[in-house]
Amino acid sequence: MNNYVYTIGNKIYINLTNRCSNKCEFCIRKGRDGMCDQRLWIDDEPTAEDVIDQLPLDLDNYDSEVVFCGFGEPTYNLDALEEVASYLHCVDKTTRINTNGHANLIHKTDVSDVVADSCDVVNVSLNAPNKARYNQICHCIYGEEGYDAMLEFAKLCKQRGAKVVLSVVDVLSPKEVDECKKIASKMGVEFRLREKE
Ligand code: SF4
Repeated sequence: MNNYVYTIGNKIYINLTNRCSNKCEFCIRKGRDGMCDQRLWIDDEPTAEDVIDQLPLDLDNYDSEVVFCGFGEPTYNLDALEEVASYLHCVDKTTRINTNGHANLIHKTDVSDVVADSCDVVNVSLNAPNKARYNQICHCIYGEEGYDAMLEFAKLCKQRGAKVVLSVVDVLSPKEVDECKKIASKMGVEFRLREKE
């Protein structure tokens, strides 16, 4: 069975794709096939209906925020993301996406409006204080363009009204973390340092 929906504690997560434009050094997909005994490699990407069918029936017993975060970059499956988010908003859930910020490169057009309208919180993985370091850590298929596109995407989502958070993983040096904090501060968005899983 393909797990398009998985839970950790009382939080619901949506797994829309296994495709990704990065190959991050710290990615949990390296050497693991899922989270909390739930396999997250999928044979086919889901439609919105496939996802909605797998949502728990007792939705009210779960956290009010549902997170698009799976074994891949969720914006590859943008149509499903948009429809599922719309459904979740109708049933009084809020939404967050954990994204690498490459959606506009992936879709070759500006889709930040779709993401910002669909997701109340857009958590963009900043991952590094500059493009050279970014590529050392993330091995982006777009090369150095990926870093600039990620920052631009974060700015656009903020302009379009989403709450934006820039995050880094604690594989960086304290000096690099400080530099990343300054980037978030200059952009006027929140900063989050998260532990490597
Ligand atoms: S962006 Fe996320 S899913 Fe993609 S390689 Fe990096 S950590 Fe893994």
